[in-house]
Amino acid sequence: MIVAIASGKGGAGKTTVSASLAGVWSPPVIAVDLDVEEPNLHLFLKPEITGQEPAHMDVPEVDEENCTLCRACSDVCQFKAISVMGDVILTFPEMCHGCGACKAVCPEDVISYGKRLLGDILWGRTAGPEFLMGRLRVGEAMSPPLMRHVKVRLKDRLAETGADAIIDAPPGVSCPAVNAVMDADVIVLVTEPTPFGCYDLALAHQAFKNIGKPMGVVVNRAGLGEDAVYAQCRDAGLPILAEIPYDRTIAEAYSRGRIISEISDRFRHIFTDLAGGIRELASSDVARKEAFHA
Ligand code: SF4
Ligand code: SF4
Repeated sequence: MIVAIASGKGGAGKTTVSASLAGVWSPPVIAVDLDVEEPNLHLFLKPEITGQEPAHMDVPEVDEENCTLCRACSDVCQFKAISVMGDVILTFPEMCHGCGACKAVCPEDVISYGKRLLGDILWGRTAGPEFLMGRLRVGEAMSPPLMRHVKVRLKDRLAETGADAIIDAPPGVSCPAVNAVMDADVIVLVTEPTPFGCYDLALAHQAFKNIGKPMGVVVNRAGLGEDAVYAQCRDAGLPILAEIPYDRTIAEAYSRGRIISEISDRFRHIFTDLAGGIRELASSDVARKEAFHA
């Protein structure tokens, strides 16, 4: 099973939940940081990094001497990453999405592929979960291509180990967040009982519901603000899988890079119950789909 931990905004507690959930999940499990722009799951899980490799994407390079400046490539590129200007052809590798359309349409076959460094993939182990993360190169604007590389390695490891995966997704509802949750079996939305929390939860629910995966909510800092988030979840049909109390000991543990589920039995039970709730949500979705196809 792949579980994605997401939230409509940063700072809701997504990484805290990911680390604690991975810590109590029945092994084998792989904790994955797909928040490649700002990965910080390793600060809590403290893995021993055992491997690292650079990730690249293909970008076009033009044999200018044999280019006829026909513009077919610049006309097809939706991202203005290759362009004929007067009597020169220019490429802008940083804007390229690697779709390959320019090479496909070039009548002279003068486009080849060069490489653009996206960042690094790192993996390792902890006393509990296996660990995997992507780390975007400073200055790289697009994170989905690197995320795809991380997901390829994850897929291989899941096939080799039969493990489950807990994914710490990027915050928000833009392309990287959707990319991180789209392959999950269950999406867990982390929110907090504040007006901002409610607003961003609504955005996340709206953005992810068309993916068609079962979703549940973790209310972090429960007791901090107002109760509107509970009515919101009820109206949207989103089950509340766990409530993490607004508690000073959690803030202290967080500031020291500790995992909440390791603070006390009380907090550990919150996350073992959450793990059970997620499994239940996944199996009820499987049962629902089987009934639908019967
Ligand atoms: S590979 Fe796609 S995005 Fe990149 S320059 Fe060619 S057409 Fe544009
Ligand atoms: S499609 Fe090929 S020949 Fe035409 S402008 Fe682009 S690179 Fe040159």
